[in-house]
Amino acid sequence: MGRLSGKVALVTGGALGIGAACVTRMIEAGANVAIVDLHDDAGQALAAQHGGNARYFHADVSSEAQVAAAIAGTVEAFGRLDVLVNNAGIAGANKPTHELTEAEWDRVQAINVKGVFFATKHAIAPLRAAGGGSIINLSSIYGLVGAADSPPYHASKGAVRLMSKTDAMLYAADRIRVNSIHPGFIWTPMVEQHIASMGGDPVQHRHEVGALHPLGHMGDADDIAWGVVYLASDESKFVTGSELVIDGGYTCH
Ligand code: NAP
Repeated sequence: MGRLSGKVALVTGGALGIGAACVTRMIEAGANVAIVDLHDDAGQALAAQHGGNARYFHADVSSEAQVAAAIAGTVEAFGRLDVLVNNAGIAGANKPTHELTEAEWDRVQAINVKGVFFATKHAIAPLRAAGGGSIINLSSIYGLVGAADSPPYHASKGAVRLMSKTDAMLYAADRIRVNSIHPGFIWTPMVEQHIASMGGDPVQHRHEVGALHPLGHMGDADDIAWGVVYLASDESKFVTGSELVIDGGYTCH
């Protein structure tokens, strides 16, 4: 028996990066997984790699109708929903607060905050029908401590941290657990783009960003995926409203 045998999970932003690692590790642990993303080629290729254990759904998490349809499609395909991983997110504009436009601010909140709200809202009924479950929200070290960059991203990840605690309390009676994960810098397309946008030597930037973590380097997507497998499994049955920090020591300062 795998750690997630018999469970059905849905991962938003599951085609690439941390989300794709979560999909693979959860399937290896015995789950069936719905991949929700905008990257159809990558999402379909990942689903095909896992045969009948994965299905791909195109949906933009900032659209309530598309999120609701993806969740309904998951229940139709696999018969139930036990685990929701709210992973889709964007870094957004990296400018000081006084230079940001309203549109730049709103875009980050629409995906990183409203996307978590929409998926959680529409997952509650199937999670209740399954007798309980686990919602895992990807926040960030930027939802715990400040840094002098990306103001809309910090605001969004701070919001996700407290949405997790409120929903943990609201749905504990339904045996639905809600936790947040707080990664340090993880080498994914998002961080690769962030480093490219800094200009200069990307190898040097990667080294400098890695050095911000006491362990001396950035993390891998699997470092986060293993935390997701734990929070998705019954091994974490007494864990709700908690913050799982996986950051190479970044927030120890
Ligand atoms: P990533 O490499 O950019 O992958 C995220 C995936 O989500 C991409 O396929 C992305 O598509 C998709 N996505 C974006 N907007 C979407 C939307 N509106 N609807 C559906 N899918 C959407 O990001 P990642 O680094 O793996 O990050 C995953 C999560 O971890 C994010 O919530 C991020 O904030 C959080 N996190 C990451 C790090 C890190 O260092 N990587 C650190 C802390 C927290 P597009 O490529 O089209 O945007």
